[in-house]
Amino acid sequence: MTERTFSIIKPDATRRNLTGKVNAVIEDAGLRIVAQKRIHMSRAQAERFYEVHKERPFFGELVDFMVSAPVVVQVLEGPNAVARYREVMGATNPAQAAEGTIRKLYAESVGENSVHGSDSQENAKLEIGQFFSEAEIVG
Ligand code: UDP
Repeated sequence: MTERTFSIIKPDATRRNLTGKVNAVIEDAGLRIVAQKRIHMSRAQAERFYEVHKERPFFGELVDFMVSAPVVVQVLEGPNAVARYREVMGATNPAQAAEGTIRKLYAESVGENSVHGSDSQENAKLEIGQFFSEAEIVG
């Protein structure tokens, strides 16, 4: 089933000029990048985006990190895109990520882990809506 998911190439990756390398892994996995833009998130945007984690001890650090440099926000499309992208990203902690995954290849730590991907279709819709209008998504 063709589906969409939301992705962020995080500051640790943009800082090291890895946008193209991350996109190559995404495209090689059969996902299409149907919308993409480079933005510098505001603190309000980052806090809203990670609101579910606001009671977690790492929330402050996570928000500081997400606003520390530009990010690339993306909409990815393909068969079972949500699950497929989670597979391609690898485990949250790069030390536990499988070979060939983005996090195994590029992530620096559990916090600075190079990419975000939605964890459900419902969250994908909500997250896409926070950063893109329908007109910006070109399938
Ligand atoms: N995170 C962190 N410390 C932790 C767990 C998570 O800094 O102990 C950060 C990390 O950047 C992660 C994000 O919070 O990607 C969201 O966490 P989640 O558990 O939702 O992981 P994900 O869905 O990104 O794999």
